[in-house]
Amino acid sequence: MLTDRLYRVSIGHLPTPLEPLYRLSSLLGGPELWIKRDDQTGLATGGNKTRKLEFLVADALAQEADTLITCGAGQSNHARQTAAAAAKFGMACTLVLRGEEPPQTQGNLLLDRLLGAEVVWAGDEPLVERMEAVAEDLRAQGRRPYIVPYGGSNPLGISGYVAAMEELLAQCAERGVHFDHIVLASSSGGTQAGLVVGARALGYEGHIIGISVDPTADRLRQILADLATATADRLGLGFAFAPEEFDVEDRYLGGGYAVIGDLEREAIRTLARTEGILLDPVYTGRAFGGLLDLIRQGAFGPQERVLFWHTGGIPGLFGFAEMLR
Ligand SMILES: *Cc1c(COP(=O)(O)O)cnc(C)c1O
Repeated sequence: MLTDRLYRVSIGHLPTPLEPLYRLSSLLGGPELWIKRDDQTGLATGGNKTRKLEFLVADALAQEADTLITCGAGQSNHARQTAAAAAKFGMACTLVLRGEEPPQTQGNLLLDRLLGAEVVWAGDEPLVERMEAVAEDLRAQGRRPYIVPYGGSNPLGISGYVAAMEELLAQCAERGVHFDHIVLASSSGGTQAGLVVGARALGYEGHIIGISVDPTADRLRQILADLATATADRLGLGFAFAPEEFDVEDRYLGGGYAVIGDLEREAIRTLARTEGILLDPVYTGRAFGGLLDLIRQGAFGPQERVLFWHTGGIPGLFGFAEMLR
C-alpha cells in the first residue's frame, strides 16, 4: 500500500460499501450514478474524518499525547469524530468551536458532550491561535496535548484518502466497474487532495470534481495543490501538483458556509426519497445538489458512470432541523 510506511490505528469500518443508485439513475435518464458510503465509516455515526484520524491518532499515540485538541464550526463533524477517537484511545479532548454557545445542544454538539469533550467557545477569534493557547495551558499543567489540524488536513491525515483511493480502485477491479467522474464535497481540501494523490500514484484517469462548500475556486485550487504536493512528498512519491490540475466548482456556495438553501433541501429530499440514503445539510447536501445541477446541464454523457463520494455529516440534520422543515 502507498501508506505502508506510516503508523496507523484501526478505527474505520473499511472498506466502505460501493453501491449503485439504480432508481435515481433511471429517474434522471443517466448518467449511471454510484455512491461510496463514507457516511458508514463508523466512529460516532461515521464520516470522512475517520480515515484521517487513523493516521493522526497513531501519531498522537507515538508522541504519548494524553489530550487531543481540534477546532471547527459549532456543528463540526470533524470535532465530533475527533472527540470519539480521543475517547476510544483513552485520551481527553478539547474542542475549540467558532461562535458562542447556542441555546440548544443538538446534532454534533450534543454528541461532542456525550463523548466527553470539553468545549471552548472562541467567538470570532482566530481558531488556530486559540488552540495554541489551550495547548499551552495544558502543557503548563503537565499534560501532553496533541493538536489535530483544522479538518484533519495535513499530510498525515490526508494519507487516509490516498489509502481510500487505493480501496476504491480495488473495489472497482473486483466489481468490474470504472468511473469516469468522482464528485465530492470539498472544504479544507484534504479529502480531494488525498484522492488526487492516490489517483496519480495508481494511474486513475477519471475526473475528481470537488464541489466547494466554502472557499472560492481559485483559493481552493491553491490549497489543494499545496496539500497534495506536501502529501505526495510525505509519502515519498516525488510528484508536485499545480492549481490548474484540480477540478473545482464554486457555483453552489449559495448564501455561504452552513447557510441551507433550496439546493441543499432539494438534494437531501431527492436522495432520501429515491434511495433511502441521508445526506447532511452543510457538505454532502450542497455537493449532491451541485451534482444534480451538473447532470441537468448535461455535464456528463448518459452512458458515463459517475461516483458520488458520500463524506458523512448526518448529525448535522439534527443540528439544522429548523432550516430543513
Ligand atoms: C469535513 C467534511 C467534508 C470536507 O472534507 P475536507 O477534507 O475538509 O475537504 C465533507 N463532508 C463532510 C460531511 C465533512 O464533515
